[in-house]
Amino acid sequence: MMSLKQPESMDELVYFTRRKTDKSKIIAWVFRENCPVCGKGLMQKPTGPDGKVKVRAKEYICPECKHRVPDKEYEETLTINIEYTCENCGKDGETQAPYKRKSFQGVPSYVFECVHCGTKIPITKKLKEPKKK
Ligand SMILES: [Zn+2]
Ligand SMILES: [Zn+2]
Repeated sequence: MMSLKQPESMDELVYFTRRKTDKSKIIAWVFRENCPVCGKGLMQKPTGPDGKVKVRAKEYICPECKHRVPDKEYEETLTINIEYTCENCGKDGETQAPYKRKSFQGVPSYVFECVHCGTKIPITKKLKEPKKK
């Protein structure tokens, strides 16, 4: 089994979520990555005059070369790391998927496949459940 790199602090991440139902469990996280232009700076949301990160800013900026990327465009190049227990086969697994939301039963979700049984599993946008068929 492959072993995913574990985050050491929230500062390394652009996304973290923990989900649990009766039969399934998901922990998912996305690391920040280096600037696509200079490769040296770790892309981050801009900081205000008080030095605090503006989490609601709609862009990421490289602290080294000041390259800016709209937040959605940057985030879609990242990878989501997932540890889960599959609702269908009951096994534990680890996998990765593009950090890009797709529509899953009408709800925007990060979707991955169980490495054991191939079931598609959504990580839905918070506070929304997929519609029952
Ligand atoms: Zn840069
Ligand atoms: Zn499975």
